[in-house]
Amino acid sequence: MARINANYGKLPGSYLFSEVGRRVREYKAAHPEAEVISLGIGDVTLPIAPAVIGALHRAVDEMGSAESFHGYAPDLGYPFLREKIAEKDYMERGCGISPDEIFVSDGAKCDCGNIQEIFGTDNTIAVLDPVYPVYVDSNVMAGRTGDYDREKDRYDGVIYLPCTKENGFVPELPEEVPDLIYLCFPNNPTGSVMTKAELQRWVDYANSHGSVILFDAAYEAYISEPGVPHSIYECEGAENCAIEFRSFSKTAGFTGLRLGFTVIPKELKAGGEALWPLWARRHGTKYNGAPYIVQRAGEAVYSPEGQLQVKEQAAYYMENAGIILEGLRQAGYEASGGVNAPYIWLRTPGNMTSWEFFDRLLAEANVVGTPGSGFGPGGEHYFRLTAFGTRENTIKAVKRITAI
Ligand code: PLP
Repeated sequence: MARINANYGKLPGSYLFSEVGRRVREYKAAHPEAEVISLGIGDVTLPIAPAVIGALHRAVDEMGSAESFHGYAPDLGYPFLREKIAEKDYMERGCGISPDEIFVSDGAKCDCGNIQEIFGTDNTIAVLDPVYPVYVDSNVMAGRTGDYDREKDRYDGVIYLPCTKENGFVPELPEEVPDLIYLCFPNNPTGSVMTKAELQRWVDYANSHGSVILFDAAYEAYISEPGVPHSIYECEGAENCAIEFRSFSKTAGFTGLRLGFTVIPKELKAGGEALWPLWARRHGTKYNGAPYIVQRAGEAVYSPEGQLQVKEQAAYYMENAGIILEGLRQAGYEASGGVNAPYIWLRTPGNMTSWEFFDRLLAEANVVGTPGSGFGPGGEHYFRLTAFGTRENTIKAVKRITAI
């Protein structure tokens, strides 16, 4: 008799953004006249940059001729893209990452969710609290956690690293040593960052305890301040303890095109075993690679025009972030983030729960945000707004929020 993976039963309710979507649909059905603005799910609104569109068109034409057609992509991705990534994202920042340590994929969400497969189910995990929910949920599905404790809103066996106002949303090193440590900086949802010195402490900690850091740098393109590392490999010794995830989604507006990559240095080991061959085996077995045309589009992001255009887009979103942050602060909200990340993290007024504030904002301002509690128990009484809206909607949304 077939049986399900009972670990799925430990997951409470639906995925955070599915629940947000459900409530918005319900509200719109009841109020068809409402003009609802979404600063909730972190999806981009600007169209793809012209340099990237040009590369896509050329690649599509290549697919239409026998001489230049491309079938299955190489397991790790096309060398033309991996070479560009190694040069621009790593070598130019002084990080010794080579093209064959880069695994091209269709995005960071899948890689962050799938990477745990190459680690035994007996590994303990540590996650920031609050944080992007995929890290915990994918480990729950794999049976690496205990049961969900409804009262504490926590999974047994998971080491939560509190990110609070008091510690500037940057966690302390844990006393109980985890085997796998998920770090996400610039952080979703708080928008906080670690300085290079702070991240170096985590790298040293992982190296001295034999832990592996899973570093999600999906928002590195939004870093504006000096002294904030764009890659964990800027820290000394990180190639011995860290895997890094990157995404083109927020860097170049590829949420609909789909492209990302994972870096696994050849020297990285867990329990004396190299991790690179395991991920290569997994990639080759279960994954067909990002489409040729999308990898060509990714290559164009690194061209001089591409770089100019995507930087302009990031600047546009960060101006939105500034508008939200200023507007909220002037209205008396306690708000942070929005300087090195496209997220603004605000304390709910009057000690409302995150979902109470969500419902109130939807009903009274017709603005959608994301309840902080959806990112972990430490997110309760907080709320996330994204800077990825259009300028017009961002200004309108801030006016409406501050009016209630
Ligand atoms: N990592 C973080 C921290 C994110 O916030 C997101 C998307 O919101 C992702 C990864 C997913 O990126 P991708 O679109 O490349 O799957």
